Amino acid sequence: MNADELPALRDELEAHGLWANKGLGQHFLLDLNITRRIARAAGDIAGKPVIEVGPGPGGLTRALLEVGADPLIVIEKDARFLPLLEPLNQWSGGRLHIVQGDALEADEAELLARFAPNAARAAIVSNLPYNVGTPLLVKWLKAGPWRGEMTLMFQKEVAQRIVAKPGTDAYGRLAVLAQARCEARLEFTVPARAFTPPPKVASAIVRLTDRQDAYPDLAALERVTAAAFGQRRKMLRAALRSLCPEPEALLRRAGLEPTARAEEIGQAGFRALADAWRGT
Ligand code: SAM
Repeated sequence: MNADELPALRDELEAHGLWANKGLGQHFLLDLNITRRIARAAGDIAGKPVIEVGPGPGGLTRALLEVGADPLIVIEKDARFLPLLEPLNQWSGGRLHIVQGDALEADEAELLARFAPNAARAAIVSNLPYNVGTPLLVKWLKAGPWRGEMTLMFQKEVAQRIVAKPGTDAYGRLAVLAQARCEARLEFTVPARAFTPPPKVASAIVRLTDRQDAYPDLAALERVTAAAFGQRRKMLRAALRSLCPEPEALLRRAGLEPTARAEEIGQAGFRALADAWRGT
């Protein structure tokens, strides 16, 4: 099947009198060359379950169906787009399931059990609404075994924070949390002019694949990174005072220098700190 045979997305938007609602972070990709590139970045998803958040007019949805996502479960908050999405179900031979609602509240495990009862995991592929991109990522990092690989578009600056390494300005909580569960790689950037309407900044695709040695207690890691990076320029012995009354003892138990700063501490250090804090 070839998505070129479908009516042009721009014509569809015009025919239905639809415009972008900035409050919902709506910046559309109407060029199939770009949405096909994102679908390719997701790897081999033919015949596999995929969840897409925020299909909007359906540019990425078309590309995901074209490469064979089966089923494709899309979660869209804005009901105005349903008439554009519904015809894609027939076009794809019934592979598309449309869920109208807020993805932050969605129960993906239940959706997967409902629409793909024999599948253990679903990939997530999405051009995320920028205003809820980070909370959605954190929700999925904490998710159960249903969650497979993620191929996600963020504002470029957020993407850089997800893949950042210690000792860089972009390194912070998001990098530690994301890399505690996943290998994170920036795939490619997409200029602002590629979107309708164009946002203020460029975007980038990040691919997140599960790591074998995923750290189990993300809640503990959230607590220690909040304290450590809350005052990122301070030495840890000062920054961690909000976490516990004796930060120096905690740091010693974790094998970390009390004079170190958060941005110098890598995965192993933060894992040791979270373990030591949990044991307090
Ligand atoms: N996938 C489309 C594309 O690439 O052209 C649209 C992407 S647009 C950046 C983000 C989409 O997410 C919009 O369609 C918006 O309505 C939807 N959205 C915003 N907040 C949402 C939420 N909390 N849950 C589900 N969808 C949401």
